[in-house]
Amino acid sequence: MSDTTFEQIGRVLREHQRFAILSHVRPDGDALGSQLALALSLQQLGKHVRVWNEDGMLEKYSFLPRADLLTKPPSVAEDVDVAIALDTAIQNRLGTALAAVGSAKIWINIDHHRSNPGYGDMVIIDSRAPATGEIIFRLIKSQGLPLNHDIAENLYAAMSADTGSFQYPKTSARTFEIASELVRDGVLDVGRISQQLYESFPRRRLELLREILRTMRFSECGQVASFSLSLKTAADLAVLPEDNEGLIDHLRAVRGVIVAVFFEELADGKVRVSMRSKDEKVDVCAICQKFGGGGHTLAAGARVRGSLVEVEEKVLEEIRETLKHARIS
Ligand code: AMP
Ligand code: MN
Ligand code: MN
Repeated sequence: MSDTTFEQIGRVLREHQRFAILSHVRPDGDALGSQLALALSLQQLGKHVRVWNEDGMLEKYSFLPRADLLTKPPSVAEDVDVAIALDTAIQNRLGTALAAVGSAKIWINIDHHRSNPGYGDMVIIDSRAPATGEIIFRLIKSQGLPLNHDIAENLYAAMSADTGSFQYPKTSARTFEIASELVRDGVLDVGRISQQLYESFPRRRLELLREILRTMRFSECGQVASFSLSLKTAADLAVLPEDNEGLIDHLRAVRGVIVAVFFEELADGKVRVSMRSKDEKVDVCAICQKFGGGGHTLAAGARVRGSLVEVEEKVLEEIRETLKHARIS
């Protein structure tokens, strides 16, 4: 699903001067790396670029080259020529960054979420791409936009983060070809980037894992695994929201588990639901869409109103129903 060509986007990028590049709340490495890469490329062309995210730059991604460019959005809206949403399945997941864009002549939406409805004037949604960073790479290369070491490192980090370091099923030959090109031409030190991405966590993340493992539950058949984080535990351990990114992989990694779910109590009376599937026949995006969320077939999320216990019950029931109807060998 894609109505706009890279050529059309390339033309708009060259013909305008003031840009705002945005991504989703609670950003991940793909969102932040893609934003910085595109921003740095446009800066090389002499453009005026704002790079906003509701949560600002996260501590864990502050190693990304020119991480300083990414800020929280200003409280007073700013007019730009072009606003670009990256990696954002629904427009309101831009959060306060959306409100910070006063007027924009053109809205561009570049994403890889299948559930993206295609908001904006120019839309590129490639749900086969394992990361938005891969689409940004292809845009930059095909349009002859600047690509230097800093841009390459941001793109590599984006792709590594969203592919689970080149493991998840959408990782393709093209993904490795792009990664190879980034490593070669950007002269990247893969070991160092990987260490920054996967071996530089604060100790409190492990303390958090210890606590949430105490809440771990498995369904009778062992196909559904879940755990949860209450506001109280989060406060007791003084964790940051970013600390739990990726912990769900511990559930996914268990033999026999098909669906893994993480429930996180939020301060606004909602529960953040994070879901993973290990089988294409069990589409967690469809399950999350029933709760107003979205994402990908094998990785999706939603924010559901209710207490932790209520939401756990409702969501686990929906998963049980889905598994009953899916033919799993
Ligand atoms: P997460 O579990 O937060 O890592 O998210 C998994 C995938 O689902 C990511 O690609 C998210 O962008 C997407 N996603 C998470 N929460 C939502 C939501 N509330 N609405 C739409 N998509 C979401
Ligand atoms: Mn993302
Ligand atoms: Mn992504």
